[in-house]
Amino acid sequence: MKFLLIQADGMPDRPIKELGNRTPLEAANTPNLDKLIKLSKMGIVNHIPKGMKSGSDVGNLSILGYNPEKFFTGRSPIEAESIGINLEPNDICYRCNLVTIKNKNGKEIMEDHSAGHIKNTISKQIIEALRENIENDEFKIYEGVSYRHILVWKNGMTEIETTAPHDILDKNIIQYLPSGPGSVRLRDLMRQAKVAIKKLKNEVPELKSSDCSDVWLWGQGKKPKLPKFKSIHKIGGSIISAVDLVKGIGKLAGLNVLEVDGATGYLDTNYKGKVEAAIKSLENDDFCMIHIEAPDETGHEGDYKKKIQAINDLDNKVVGPIIDLMENKYDEYKICVVSDHPTPCELRTHSYEYVPFLIFDSRLNNNNHGKEVFTEKAANESGIVEHSGHELLFSFFQS
Ligand SMILES: [Zn+2]
Repeated sequence: MKFLLIQADGMPDRPIKELGNRTPLEAANTPNLDKLIKLSKMGIVNHIPKGMKSGSDVGNLSILGYNPEKFFTGRSPIEAESIGINLEPNDICYRCNLVTIKNKNGKEIMEDHSAGHIKNTISKQIIEALRENIENDEFKIYEGVSYRHILVWKNGMTEIETTAPHDILDKNIIQYLPSGPGSVRLRDLMRQAKVAIKKLKNEVPELKSSDCSDVWLWGQGKKPKLPKFKSIHKIGGSIISAVDLVKGIGKLAGLNVLEVDGATGYLDTNYKGKVEAAIKSLENDDFCMIHIEAPDETGHEGDYKKKIQAINDLDNKVVGPIIDLMENKYDEYKICVVSDHPTPCELRTHSYEYVPFLIFDSRLNNNNHGKEVFTEKAANESGIVEHSGHELLFSFFQS
C-alpha cells in the first residue's frame, strides 16, 4: 500500500461577500477533488490544540502524527534544522523576517510580513549586509529563503514575548515589539538592522525599489526532540515542500526531505516537479507528503482571487495528475487531502476552525457523506469529527 498526503496549507476559509458568500474553496473550479470526494471518506479535523497558536508549525507537527502539546518548542528552531543549523541546548533560535514597515501619520505600520515576497537574489544581499553590521559572538544570522531567515542568540534570554508579523498586518507595531526581560537587546538589534538596510538600499541601485525596510524577530525556541516518524508509524517516507519550516519538521522526524527545483511556496511554484518527485519517491518509500503553500500565502495577502487561483492550481496541477499517476503506477494506494489550519482572506492570518479532510482508498468506495463536493460546509455536515489532529495519520495508515 502506498500513502500520499496532500497538505493544502491554509486552504480553508470563511464565506466572502464578493463571492456570493462562498469560500474560495467553494468558488474554485475543482473537478478532481470533486471526483475524489465521491469515493472518499470526508470529515473535519483540528490540528491546533486548545490554547496553542494557530500556525503551520503546530499544524504540520499534528498532521505528521506528533501531538504539538508534547513536541512543539517554537517555530524557528524547526526551520533552523531545515537549513542545517546545529543548535546548542542553550541557543535560542528566532525567525528573522524581512518585512515592510511604513511610517503613516507618525505611526509605524506593519505593511507586509514578506517584504513583497522578496526575491532570493535581493534578500541574499540584505542578509549579507546584516551579517556585517549586527553579528557578534552572541548573535548570528543565517540565510533562508525569500523573506524567511534565522537569528540565533547564544545563551539567549528565555522569557521574551514576540508576535508573528503576519498577525499584525496594517497595525501599529509599537505594542508588538519584543517584550520581557532582555528584550531590549532584540529591539536594539532590530533598530540597527533598519539602519543597515536603509544604508544598503541607498548604496545599491538594484535594491532601491525593494519593499524591505526592517527585520522582525519572532517564533523563538530551543531545539525540539521528535521521535522518528518510522518508529511511531512503522512506515518510512518523504516530504516535499518549498517551506523551510515544513522541511525542518520532516528532517527532525527522520523523513527524506526531497528538493525540487523551482519550488517557491507561491503561485509560481513548480507543481509538476513536485508531483513527479512525490510519485517517484513512492517507488522506494510507502509514504509521501506533498505540501502546497500557495493557498496560505494568498490568504495572508487577503486576495480571494489569488486564493481561488491557488486552489484551482492545486486541483488541476496537483490532485488531478496525482490521481492519474497513482492509478497507473500502483495497485493499492490511499490519498489524504488535508490542511493544517484555515487562513481566511478576511483575517489575513490563521484561524482556529476545524479543517476538512478526505481519505481515498483505491480498494474501496468509503463515502460516508453522500456529498458531491469537498468544501468546508460539506465536510462539516459529514458528521465525522477528529478532535485530536495527530491521530488522523494513524487512521490514514490503518488498512
Ligand atoms: Zn500553514
